[in-house]
Amino acid sequence: MKISQKLVDEVVSELAGADVVPLVALLRNKTNVSEFLLAEKLDVEINLVRNMLYRLYDNSLVSFTRKKDKKKGWYIYYWTFNPKRVRELIVDIKKKKLRKLKERLMREKNNQFFICENECMRLDFEQAHDYKFKCPECGVLLNVQDNRKTIERLEKECEKAENELKLIEEAVAKEEKAAKEAAAKRAEREEKKEAKEKEAAKKAKKKAVKKAKKKTTKKKVKKKVAKKAKK
Ligand SMILES: [Zn+2]
Repeated sequence: MKISQKLVDEVVSELAGADVVPLVALLRNKTNVSEFLLAEKLDVEINLVRNMLYRLYDNSLVSFTRKKDKKKGWYIYYWTFNPKRVRELIVDIKKKKLRKLKERLMREKNNQFFICENECMRLDFEQAHDYKFKCPECGVLLNVQDNRKTIERLEKECEKAENELKLIEEAVAKEEKAAKEAAAKRAEREEKKEAKEKEAAKKAKKKAVKKAKKKTTKKKVKKKVAKKAKK
């Protein structure tokens, strides 16, 4: 399983609002995107784009750098999406959902519920007791509800959520590993490039020194020749 765009969109819209989904699509797999470019591409006012970006920023889903525009004198912000953070959040949200489902299941298993035949209310034992086991809406006597079906449904949902979480955690681990490997490769490439540049600089310096030496010896020779000529 891969972390799908759909899953990313789901998490992003849950945390920052559904309107940021198209913006995230523009940021994904890119770095340092100008907010003016985003406004242009989305065809919305710059203030609205900034508002969306701040909502993402509040959840650490984006980071920014800024540069001063020399002509206009103000700062332009450049934004980068944070895929590592979104992976963390996907797992967090799915875990939370599973926990809630389990809590509901336990509540169903450990409690007795009462309903009225007109389906006005569903009360737990304490609430039903407070109303003397009569429906507070229509007044008929409350019956104990057979909630085995609800329990069965919740058990299935829990199982499904557990499996989904497992797959997501595996996918996240895989992507995390790939990201680390890519970063290591990038670092290695940069190191090699730097070493090459250093080597080239060294050679250039050596050459320059040699040239300078040649010049001075030439000058000396010239001087000697000149002296001899004077004599
Ligand atoms: Zn009722």
